[in-house]
Amino acid sequence: METIILRGKEVSDAVKERLKEDIDTCKKRGITPGLAVVLIGEDPASTVYVRNKARACEALGIFSETIRLPKDTTQATLNTLIDRLNKNTRFHGILVQLPLPRHLNEKEIIHRIHPEKDVDGFHPFNIGKLILGEDTFLPCTPAGIIEMLRYYQIETSGKHVVIVGRSNIVGKPMANLMYQKSAYANATVTICHTGTSDIKKYTRQADILIVAAGVPEMITADMVKEDATVIDVGVNRVDDPSCKKGYRLVGDVAFEEVKERVSAITPVPGGVGLMTIAMLMQNTVKAAENQAKNMKKHGQ
Ligand code: NAP
Repeated sequence: METIILRGKEVSDAVKERLKEDIDTCKKRGITPGLAVVLIGEDPASTVYVRNKARACEALGIFSETIRLPKDTTQATLNTLIDRLNKNTRFHGILVQLPLPRHLNEKEIIHRIHPEKDVDGFHPFNIGKLILGEDTFLPCTPAGIIEMLRYYQIETSGKHVVIVGRSNIVGKPMANLMYQKSAYANATVTICHTGTSDIKKYTRQADILIVAAGVPEMITADMVKEDATVIDVGVNRVDDPSCKKGYRLVGDVAFEEVKERVSAITPVPGGVGLMTIAMLMQNTVKAAENQAKNMKKHGQ
């Protein structure tokens, strides 16, 4: 059977179509979902991500503002900005683009964003709800992966999902979502990391392999089970003088050789990355709807 290429564009377009209707409904009630994006410094990858997020907002009719601060911004200035954004009713969601410059305390900032505006889904309150299986903002990349599995109707119940990577933003929430007793989850989950000896032993058992390690093309054909589904989260710049920019983007999976062996695979670029942005848009709309409901409840 031919390998299915899981296209982020197709799935994210479907999500955005759905969102347009929700945004229209919000606007009819006098609410324009709003997202504040904070970018500190001029990291090239972060600058591109922030620009893409602003463009996605614009295309959907979400109000967004990008607040750019110099790389030597102090923790106190950033804290004050977050406090101000928490109180500003124009913004339903706040996103601080990570990673932050080394002198800033990432954890303190994540904790400071009000959980109701935490559209990245990184606040411990929301992560706690995720683990308990309660309704919350799901971190965008894992949520996007589940949306892709749903779109392509890739069954996960009873399957063995192996995740490579245990970061707070991808690996850990992904693992905690995949074992939930719900649709497009209910899987048996294994997590691999740098402390795992003989990674191949586990990756070869995966019915669904999700790789978020940040190591260019570390997963080769001999490391996957035949007919597995492979989700490649990695985005790595590798030098390539033949490209105009002097580099090209590759995933954590050696796409060309692995695709010959598996039943479905995401490309890089064109896979998970597009889903991450779509889910950020979805969380922003959800934040606007939740905040409107809360205001109504409190008679405001
Ligand atoms: P991260 O914070 O650097 O975490 C990487 C994880 O992978 C860590 O848990 C690390 O293990 C593990 N790891 C690294 N090398 C490994 C190896 N050789 N064998 C086994 N495990 C290994 O990265 P991240 O933020 O999760 O991102 C991972 C990748 O996804 C990056 O390429 C990033 O650019 C990309 N990403 C893409 C999107 C998207 O929207 N497409 C979103 C987020 C991230 P230890 O914990 O033991 O160190």
